[in-house]
Amino acid sequence: MKKHLLPTIVLACLLSFSACQQHCSLSVIPAPQGVELHRGAFVPNEHTQLWVEAPEYDKQLLQDYMCASPMPLVVADAMPAANGVMLRVVDSLAGVDGAEGYVLAIEKNGVVLEALSPAGLFYGVQTLVQMFDGARVPVGRIVDAPRFAYRGMMLDVSRHFFDVSFIKRQIDAMARYKLNHLHLHLTDAAGWRVEIERYPRLTDLAAWRTHATWKEWWNGGRKYVDKAAEGAHGGYYTQAEVRDIVDYARRHYITVIPEIEMPSHSEEVLVAYPELSCSHAPYEGSDFCVGSEATFEFLENVLLEVMRLFPSEYIHIGGDEASKQAWKSCPKCQARMQREGLATVDELQSYFIHRIETFLNNHGRKLLGWDEILEGGLAPNATVMSWRGTEGGLKAMAMGHRAIMTPGEYCYFDAYQDAPHTQPEAIGGYLPLQKVYAYEPLPDTIDISLASLLYGVQGNLFAEYIPTEEHMEYMAYPRVLALAEVAWSLPENKCYEDFRVRAIEEVSYLRSKGYNAFDLAHEVGNRPGADRQLQHLGVGKRVSYVDGCNFYPGYAAGGSDALANGVRGGWTYGDKCWQGFLGRKGVDVVIDLEKSTTIREVNADFMQICGPGVFMPSQIVVSVSDDGESFTELISIDNEVVRDDAVTFKTFGWEGVATARYVRYQAARSDFGGFLFVDEVVIR
Ligand SMILES: [Zn+2]
Repeated sequence: MKKHLLPTIVLACLLSFSACQQHCSLSVIPAPQGVELHRGAFVPNEHTQLWVEAPEYDKQLLQDYMCASPMPLVVADAMPAANGVMLRVVDSLAGVDGAEGYVLAIEKNGVVLEALSPAGLFYGVQTLVQMFDGARVPVGRIVDAPRFAYRGMMLDVSRHFFDVSFIKRQIDAMARYKLNHLHLHLTDAAGWRVEIERYPRLTDLAAWRTHATWKEWWNGGRKYVDKAAEGAHGGYYTQAEVRDIVDYARRHYITVIPEIEMPSHSEEVLVAYPELSCSHAPYEGSDFCVGSEATFEFLENVLLEVMRLFPSEYIHIGGDEASKQAWKSCPKCQARMQREGLATVDELQSYFIHRIETFLNNHGRKLLGWDEILEGGLAPNATVMSWRGTEGGLKAMAMGHRAIMTPGEYCYFDAYQDAPHTQPEAIGGYLPLQKVYAYEPLPDTIDISLASLLYGVQGNLFAEYIPTEEHMEYMAYPRVLALAEVAWSLPENKCYEDFRVRAIEEVSYLRSKGYNAFDLAHEVGNRPGADRQLQHLGVGKRVSYVDGCNFYPGYAAGGSDALANGVRGGWTYGDKCWQGFLGRKGVDVVIDLEKSTTIREVNADFMQICGPGVFMPSQIVVSVSDDGESFTELISIDNEVVRDDAVTFKTFGWEGVATARYVRYQAARSDFGGFLFVDEVVIR
């Protein structure tokens, strides 16, 4: 494989800013901090000796890893004088800050890799292995260390269960890209996935359901079935399998963080053990009864087993999206609130999180939760995983807590990564590689003294619409690579054009290893017109919203000029270029062209994605006026709205010749209700 000095990379970098030039000849992901390359190469052969100086456990592990790599190596009996690859842990290392850094020096007659820890050696090994093109390694010196200590990936194994061998394959890939935390979303409504010896019904019942895919199950009654029932779909990790995964991850310098959802997202538990809900009845809600001591007894017993299985510093307790509704009328929850002096159910949730945190802290662990754990007051030592934007994380940091950034807009790999019509069904959205890559976790505005509290970043792969292993890998790669570079590389060393070339090569590598990576080289890209300014007669003209028609504030697309600003929306209504309408009146706007104008075309685009309730209009009317009071209809279009799985875009409009000052565009909502989304009223 040709990996070095690709002319296209050099060209791309010359066209881009200069900061990335030092990296453009090194095809390594994530881009190292400091790279010097010289003439010549080290060419290993069957006599090349491997020498490792590290604590015994790590020494064996690093030897095994290197010997399994494509480099021809034999383990040395004594330190080789030449033609050797030497790895050693040292006490100090010039220019390297932090335990995970390393210095990799490649000479014609051998390689010396030094680090302050075995993990640092492991990351240097990844760089060396990626630099090896099958025959040679270019002479040079790499001085490298990660930007962030926490570099994570979350896999949702609840919505669809993925077995141990699949998880190990992802660990292999994560290690290659220097990620160091694997967060497993082990429990949720769609299935409980970890054996708890004390509560066997969690895996005899709550791990099994009526349908193979989440979507069929969600739309088909959401029922759990006995493990032995005919047609039961699901699965779980036995405790032995969990130990196997944790050990395998440890051998790749990756910590596995378990997530056990509480106090909500727990429908499956409350069917297996209905006495833990406020109603004591199955199939009635997703929240534990926080008023009941039995809830704490159960959760603490579960956490005791979880802590025995997972040695991670952090235990993730979810904490997100509690409805809190049942708590408002449950006598036990109300009594708890009164006893503890809690004014709101938010404070009851906070009481719950505090109490679970105390339990974890008493067992030497730390609590990690989604940003909802801020509601009602954050527990004293908790770390926040910020998913609803970055505000939660920044707020936690301002309060002196650590935060991990995983905002949906940049880090949720369940969104479409290319034009939806070219992709398997996804949950929605549009998150191309370039956008993941562009993510900068530290805003300019942050108080620099707080920056050290930003623990790191994580990509999340929720699996509602991802029923197979092939599909999961397709959604993960190459976006994981972009995330790895956000997490590891310095912002001044980042350059998307350069990265994209490296990522295309890496996709080829991943595919050669059997990973079903997205075909980046044939990426379609954003919706035509979305990335450039559109010119037409209405641009810059005033848009008025006829009585009763208002855009939805959460989807304002910049405000009242959005439909005449020349900006097209992309593949997702969430890109701040589509304006959303939720009212009964639908869309009813008038554009004032300021003087009588000859017009030949009026049209607007709409999008539909039924999952989140975004539908095409059922009727469109275009009309014109000279005085803005009495309008003449140019066209009325009836449209049959059909519910389907696709993401679709459609243009509705009029063509002809008319002269007028005012143009009115009306679009009616269909019987499905929901949102109408429109990006621009185009007038020509
Ligand atoms: Zn209750």
